[in-house]
Amino acid sequence: MSDLAIGILGGAGRMGRALVRAVTEAKGAVVAGAAEAPGNPEIGKDLGALTGIDPLGIVLTSDVRALFARADVVIDFTVPAATVENARVAAETGTAIVIGTTGLEPAQQAAVAEAGKRAVVVQAANFSLGVNLAVALTRRLAEVLDDSFDIEIVEMHHRHKVDAPSGTALALGRAAAAGRGVDLDAVADRGRDGITGARRRGDIGFAVLRGGNVAGDHTVVFAADDERIELTHKAGDRIIFARGAVHAALWTAGKPAGLYTMQDVLKL
Ligand code: NAD
Repeated sequence: MSDLAIGILGGAGRMGRALVRAVTEAKGAVVAGAAEAPGNPEIGKDLGALTGIDPLGIVLTSDVRALFARADVVIDFTVPAATVENARVAAETGTAIVIGTTGLEPAQQAAVAEAGKRAVVVQAANFSLGVNLAVALTRRLAEVLDDSFDIEIVEMHHRHKVDAPSGTALALGRAAAAGRGVDLDAVADRGRDGITGARRRGDIGFAVLRGGNVAGDHTVVFAADDERIELTHKAGDRIIFARGAVHAALWTAGKPAGLYTMQDVLKL
């Protein structure tokens, strides 16, 4: 079988550069190309040089449609508005798309779900194996522990991150809520400041830290009187998300259209 040609959307971004490296290191995959928003100063540069590896002989483009035409599957780590547009092109062309962009509004999420009717869409707030295990374990712990255990989710990311709480923190929150059989929106406490009153039983609290170049730390705390369980994952380098996204891209081959998660890819 020939190698799967993977196109990268958001190629000059932090994740885009890690993805170029991850695809070149993966067995069974080749870089089909990478696209950026029109006007990005890196357009026209060699993808290898951009990533700090040997030149690939492929330059960064702004022509998203041409990239779709060359790719068997695309990976999108961009911004929500671009992701919605890219998901539409995927549905139109029947090209599989792996989406890592976070911070989508409900209407944007609905557009991604719609694309899943016509193309293979794998979407995850976090593509690392460790975090996906942490999500599964969080759900299990929340199933077993009643609401005498207060659930708090703490995350820290680099100073450039624009959305909060992180998509991963929200995914951990949703897993905890699902374990308890409740809707996260009904119990989420996403910001405490000033005289907040006592904690409501059953709430799931979020706390957000930003600073330095932290790739992503998440802790789920289950705190009861006199005992506490803490489940922590720390990402050392964003290459782990890129490797997971490439793993998901390889997994899409031959799958029927649908909206899938990393839990499906990893069979968790
Ligand atoms: P970044 O800002 O470094 O990169 C995003 C890139 O997308 C930028 O270079 C931007 O120019 C580009 N872009 C914007 N519009 C575009 C368009 N129309 N076409 C092509 N490219 C376009 O951000 P980042 O740190 O690489 O993160 C990107 C996204 O991925 C964020 O939403 C982040 O939260 C998410 N993320 C997800 C995971 C995960 O595992 N799911 C891991 C890390 C980051």
